[in-house]
Amino acid sequence: MRRLPVYLLIDTSESMIGQAIEAVRTGLGTMLSALRKNPYALEMGALGVITFGGTARKVTPLTEVYAFQQPDLEVKPGTMLGGAISLLDQAISTEIVRTTPDRKGDYKPLVFVLTDGQPTDEWRSAFHHFKQNHKSVVLYAIGCGNDVDFTILKELTENTYSMEQMDADAFAKLFVCISSSITSASGAIGDQGKQGGAINLEKDAGGTIRKIEKAETIGSRKQRQVFIPGVCQKTRKPYLLRYRWNDEDGCYQCMAGHKLEKAFSREETGAIETVSSSELQGLVPCPHCGNEGHGRCDCGTVTCYALGKGFNSMFGTKVCCPGCGKIGHMASGGVFNVGQSRG
Ligand SMILES: [Zn+2]
Ligand SMILES: [Zn+2]
Repeated sequence: MRRLPVYLLIDTSESMIGQAIEAVRTGLGTMLSALRKNPYALEMGALGVITFGGTARKVTPLTEVYAFQQPDLEVKPGTMLGGAISLLDQAISTEIVRTTPDRKGDYKPLVFVLTDGQPTDEWRSAFHHFKQNHKSVVLYAIGCGNDVDFTILKELTENTYSMEQMDADAFAKLFVCISSSITSASGAIGDQGKQGGAINLEKDAGGTIRKIEKAETIGSRKQRQVFIPGVCQKTRKPYLLRYRWNDEDGCYQCMAGHKLEKAFSREETGAIETVSSSELQGLVPCPHCGNEGHGRCDCGTVTCYALGKGFNSMFGTKVCCPGCGKIGHMASGGVFNVGQSRG
């Protein structure tokens, strides 16, 4: 039996915590029962799930629709899109039956990428590699929420959509759209014996999702999110602070600290623009050690430091910079000029 392989790449970064991830779980269940009611989808559909938060994980290898079990979706900080694309690349190379002179292989895979933000890893080289290996894959990207960088999603695929709401109802509709695109693809194969191209997901969305024809470059308008790379003083591991623009306060509010797999190179850090400390507000604990303060050494390294016990309001906290090894004092909580990354 030739299968129609469908891969879901699901963002499980920390901003998906709570309602959104619950809605994804429910949506997956709804989608599954819809696919099982459709004879073509039931017969040829196969689903694989890759999640990407702090790490990218293949949570379900390609499995026939009738045998598919709901995977666990675990929320972890970070948006490892590049990691997810690499896993997808491997999965398609190893799980899809190729056409040989003796047998017909599987159909072209459909891939749906659901993401709510901006990747925190280097995803472009992974994507480049993927495109070289798997030209015929039909890719859909759905940006969920208000902080999506659509220029990135448009680099992935022409089939880019926006879903601004992230409630249960919106996700339910999204999964209806996804399942109907799967049933229509399997229907075209079943009826005409051949696979069509990408379809417009908007069709069944009832206004919940809309196609992005042209991604606006974030120019004069304030960037929605900025990321500041740091190095944990205790563990020496790299992290990334995420700030989100707050229109009411006119500044960036610290939202989260992400663990980073790998520190930014000097070159990457050099390319980072500077954002004034006056535009930054709030602090979150270091994702590695829990230190509440973050400050910048003269050498340019941002590092975490303790604000609680041992913090002296006059002298601050004694800090050994993990970048240059100098010992100094971080004087006040979080007043620092730092480089920012675009994520
Ligand atoms: Zn730390
Ligand atoms: Zn230093």
